[in-house]
Amino acid sequence: MPIIIVDLDKCIGCGKCSDICIKAVFETIKLEKYNYMTKYFAAHPENCLFCCLCVGSCPELAITLKKKTFNEIKSF
Ligand code: SF4
Ligand code: SF4
Repeated sequence: MPIIIVDLDKCIGCGKCSDICIKAVFETIKLEKYNYMTKYFAAHPENCLFCCLCVGSCPELAITLKKKTFNEIKSF
């Protein structure tokens, strides 16, 4: 399962990552820390195909996608 990290400090809530993702990985979140502004996070990384389209779609370069290392898989 890939690790998908959204830097919420950078996310402007445009939803482009969610629009382009055919696996519906992203969902919205509203946190007090960001004055309840809509942000997106990877709620369902287990569905990810590792196509990287979300990374390229983000105007704020807020998304990092990593494959798990062998050790991370072993300890999973
Ligand atoms: S890499 Fe592809 S499948 Fe995975 S979250 Fe991004 S757009 Fe969705
Ligand atoms: S594309 Fe980037 S800035 Fe837009 S909602 Fe997704 S993570 Fe946030």
